[in-house]
Amino acid sequence: MSFPHLKDAVDSLLGEVSHATGRILDRALAGYDISLEEGARLFDASGTDLPVLCAVADYLRRKAVGDVVTYVVNRNVNFTNVCVKACGFCAFSRGHLAEEGYFLPLEEIRRRAEEAWEMGATEVCVQAGLAPGMDGWHYVKLCKAIKEAVPDLHVHGFSPEEVLYGSTLTGVTIKEYLLALKEAGVGSLPGTSAEILVDEVRNQISPGRIPTAKWVELIQTAHEVGIPTTSTIMYGHLESSYHKAAHLGILRDIQRRTGGITEFVPLSFVYEEAPVYYRKKLPGLRAGATGAEVMKMYAVSRIMLNNWIPNLQVSWVKEGPKFSQIGLMAGANDFGGTLINESISTAAGASHGQLMKPSQFRSLIREMGRIPAERTTTYEKIRVFETEDNPVDLLDQIENPEERFGSYRALTKLKEYRFKDFYRARKTS
Ligand code: SF4
Repeated sequence: MSFPHLKDAVDSLLGEVSHATGRILDRALAGYDISLEEGARLFDASGTDLPVLCAVADYLRRKAVGDVVTYVVNRNVNFTNVCVKACGFCAFSRGHLAEEGYFLPLEEIRRRAEEAWEMGATEVCVQAGLAPGMDGWHYVKLCKAIKEAVPDLHVHGFSPEEVLYGSTLTGVTIKEYLLALKEAGVGSLPGTSAEILVDEVRNQISPGRIPTAKWVELIQTAHEVGIPTTSTIMYGHLESSYHKAAHLGILRDIQRRTGGITEFVPLSFVYEEAPVYYRKKLPGLRAGATGAEVMKMYAVSRIMLNNWIPNLQVSWVKEGPKFSQIGLMAGANDFGGTLINESISTAAGASHGQLMKPSQFRSLIREMGRIPAERTTTYEKIRVFETEDNPVDLLDQIENPEERFGSYRALTKLKEYRFKDFYRARKTS
């Protein structure tokens, strides 16, 4: 069957692609890793180059991982919002005497893990603030407590910043701390605290944050001791096209060396409540990424990482379900997790809710003509929904997630878990 008019339309589109972009895309399609300069050039794509860039990313995605779009049934446990740091982009953290500062005890974390398991979750994602006065082994104890309560639940926990905090407080090396976490049952580490892996930008948006070299060392050490990690970027603030490409280059180099990265998750800057935005301290700070920037982020990530990190995740929390579908057309193949409790982006002003039900994932994916599949944290497929079957999972039956699972806002109001009381009691005991 031939489509002469269609061919004319596509030929005319291709004829208008700039020479520089066409050459880079051609190299990527031939299977080469493109350079940082070439990646930066793609981040600057506009006009006809932009739809062609997305089409190439989509083609590479299809060749690498096919038409299945995965999601994971998981629950976030952000067990404290009290933090000794004050990263400029973070609207989640509170000082140790703040009325809204909370700290969940181990029993409550265990209860949340058990409840998640009963609701069909296979993973808990545990990340939080760096609470002052905390027992340095707390992360290890917390992990053990979850695994004792629900041995088969995957603990995806503890950002590089938290692991560094734990190792500093206990006086052991990063490797020793990671081994202790592994022994306690941690299944994987979130590759967060990355923001942008370019110190000159990092030092402006979050002075005092774990430096790039330490982040890389920590992630590689996790891989060396057998703990896989995810990888992330935060963009739409001060960074340039070259900074984004350099960040992707660092991840690609780590993966070449270790093979321990399971996925890449671009996260656009949610600016509304970010201190660095509303205090207007930084000249040139952008109000998050535009729609074109988000599309290019997915497309260029697919093109730069395709040979090394096949899984590219959209963030429904940051972009919402509608724009996440667009991301699936620009190289992405994973829809992320159900979350059940979402705090960090909600605190920063995101308004996409705290739970995405499995049936919602399936319907959004099918609407794009793709095949939904539930996966584990490390991308083994649990259920592939080849047909139109749409089972009603337990999470699908939840009418009011905030009422059923508690919300971030309610948590910051509860007297029961107030950090300052816990902190004072510790100081006087
Ligand atoms: S991003 Fe993490 S380390 Fe930084 S202030 Fe927020 S909770 Fe603390």
